Amino acid sequence: MNCILRGVRVIDPLARRDAPGQDVWLSEGRIIAIYKHMGEGSLPVIDLTPASGHAPVILCPGFIDIHTHLREPGDEGAETLHSGSQAAAAGGFTQVVAMANTVPPVDTPERVKEATFRAVAASVQVLTGCALTRGLQGAELVDLEECAAAGAAAFSDDGRNALSPRLLSEAIVRAAPLRRPILVHPEDEELLAQVNNVQGPVNRCSLRPVEAEARAVGYALRALTHAGRGHVHLQHLSAAASVEMVRRAKEEGATVTAEATPHHLSMWLPMATEPDPPALRKVNPPLRTDRDREALVQALRDGVIDCVATDHAPHRVEEKTLPYDDAAPGMIGLELALAVCITLGGMGGDWVPTLVERLTLGPYRVLGPGAGIREPRLRIGEAATCVLFDPEAEWTVEPSHLRSTSQNTPLLGAKLRGRVLMTLVDGALVHHDRQRLPWPVAAPSEPAS
Ligand SMILES: [Zn+2]
Repeated sequence: MNCILRGVRVIDPLARRDAPGQDVWLSEGRIIAIYKHMGEGSLPVIDLTPASGHAPVILCPGFIDIHTHLREPGDEGAETLHSGSQAAAAGGFTQVVAMANTVPPVDTPERVKEATFRAVAASVQVLTGCALTRGLQGAELVDLEECAAAGAAAFSDDGRNALSPRLLSEAIVRAAPLRRPILVHPEDEELLAQVNNVQGPVNRCSLRPVEAEARAVGYALRALTHAGRGHVHLQHLSAAASVEMVRRAKEEGATVTAEATPHHLSMWLPMATEPDPPALRKVNPPLRTDRDREALVQALRDGVIDCVATDHAPHRVEEKTLPYDDAAPGMIGLELALAVCITLGGMGGDWVPTLVERLTLGPYRVLGPGAGIREPRLRIGEAATCVLFDPEAEWTVEPSHLRSTSQNTPLLGAKLRGRVLMTLVDGALVHHDRQRLPWPVAAPSEPAS
């Protein structure tokens, strides 16, 4: 790769830069220069200048997903580090945080070390999410200090929320000096057990009322207040009621942050038909009403919700073809996130720069620099970690094109707008649309003027 990309809009939220009509000189994984009207010398040029009335292709720092399930170890038939990181690259994500609910779960310093070591081979940076409680059972906190020292980027029992507000408060206090956020899956398990009339695990129960989320958000906010320090991050908000609680808490100065998923931002409302099997749309928390969707979109736009997170949840076919009430919850998201947010999630058109912020700087700030995450920034001359995408390019979600091992999404066959053309991680080309970016074969001999 040694060429000039002409006519690109460069967005770098951390540098407060949003510049259309730029020419970008790329060479061997580095951005050598960005400015207007670059003379090409002997360098080949790929002209990406949009036709009149169309939006330009965008270059920005690589996306960060703070909520990914990679299933390794324990369920490699659903996803591996390799396939999951390939899916991340195809979706423009250069850094992801893997959740701890693997088999076995990541809940000891040794397992944090193992997971971190295993992740070195991935094609994007995979940070290790550590459980908050042993076995995600909610009874006993993990050794937060030792797990952080071993490389844990954040703590979360995601998938479960079994710990008491008292224990959550203790965890917040202990995580504060470690500069790690506590990520909470806000669904109240007691209420879920009641409404579903079950005594065992509730993660496959299909009745999941708004009250279960609102109650869990309330507990988490009270635990944070009680702790008097630290940081709580609320995962996958799905309801207008909980958005309002977060809005009020932020106005009162609470150090709380929140995320929304592409599927909750869109709720798949434009889908005319029920997916087959129906469990393809089963997810925790569930897809709710258009009023909830509008509240989430508004909150993402105005910053009450800090970032988009995919909750990428691959499952084997047999887990999704079970009767609805027995099927596994969750859907894949890494490769679809950008296009779903643009096409169905209220973040297209003039909102695309905000979306870029919520996929880069937003999640970076949620995790914080203590977590070992890299600053999302376009740096001239350094090995680049960035993404190039076309916000208007249309594509159809074809199973054969997905790089994830699993294809559990209700959007198979859907037409979406927003396509990743290139992803670079530390200068390595990890995803590349060969049709739109035909790298020249011949090596150039002279630099650009
Ligand atoms: Zn969750």
